[in-house]
This record gives sequence, structure tokens and C-alpha cells, in this order.
Amino acid sequence: MAVTGLVKTIKTDYPSITLRSAKSFLWIPQENTVEYDPSGDTAYLLHELGHALLHHDSYSHDIELLSIERAAWTYATSHLADKYNVDIPSELIEESLDTYREWMHARSTCPVCHLNGIQSGPRLYRCVSCSATWSVNEARGCNLRRHTQGNHK
Ligand SMILES: [Zn+2]
Ligand SMILES: [Zn+2]
Repeated sequence: MAVTGLVKTIKTDYPSITLRSAKSFLWIPQENTVEYDPSGDTAYLLHELGHALLHHDSYSHDIELLSIERAAWTYATSHLADKYNVDIPSELIEESLDTYREWMHARSTCPVCHLNGIQSGPRLYRCVSCSATWSVNEARGCNLRRHTQGNHK
């Protein structure tokens, strides 16, 4: 099934959730809105619906984002995939989560000594080795491979 067909069904099933065509898949908790790419993968649409139904809100630390991402995929595979007859390959999930792991690794690497730092605030990291601090962009979206800095709309 194409994304647009599935969107129609989901709109009927969950009238309180706004679904809006966009360039990529994104859950916007402030607007109770799922943005979807009409030419994208239905698996991602169910992933975003997972965020919506789990009422995922903002997070303050990058590591929370990874668990939120994992939870949305788990919900999509266990509650939504059969219902909507959508195949969600585990490779797709791992690939998606890998983009977050790589992204977190890049953000947490100290720009001075290249060791791993710890997150000391919502957008701040600190190196435990050389005490350097650095700030990072806000992260949004569920397909970071396409939006490497996470600073997209
Ligand atoms: Zn350092
Ligand atoms: Zn996501």
C-alpha cells in the first residue's frame, strides 16, 4: 500500500491526529501532527504513528532520543504492522537506529582531544578528559541520514 492510501485509513482510525504531507517523516508533539513523505516508506509512517500513540514529547538528553526511537519502532511492529498490513523489516529498524547511534557518537566526540564527552545539558557536552565544552544543535526528525545536522523542518 502506498503512503497516501494508508494516511487515509489512519485519519479515519485516529481523527485526533493531524496528518500533513511534507518532505520527510516527522512527529511534532506540540501540534499533535505527523508529517509524512507521500513517496516514502509506509514503515516510517507507522513509526511516526507509534510516536503519536505513545504521546512522545520532547527529550532533554540525546540518549533519551534513542530510547524514544526504539519504543516507536517496537510499538509500530507489535501493534500497527499487522493491523495495517505493513511489512517493517528489522534491517530497516536497525539502519534507522544506527543513524542515531552514529549521530550521537559524532555529537559526543570532543572537538579538542576526540575522546567521548558526556552531555551536561539539553544542547551541551563536556569532555571528561580535557574539560572542553561544546554545544550541539537541537535534534528533530526520525530519518537523520537525510538531515545530518538534525536542524531541519
Ligand atoms: Zn577533550
Ligand atoms: Zn522516530
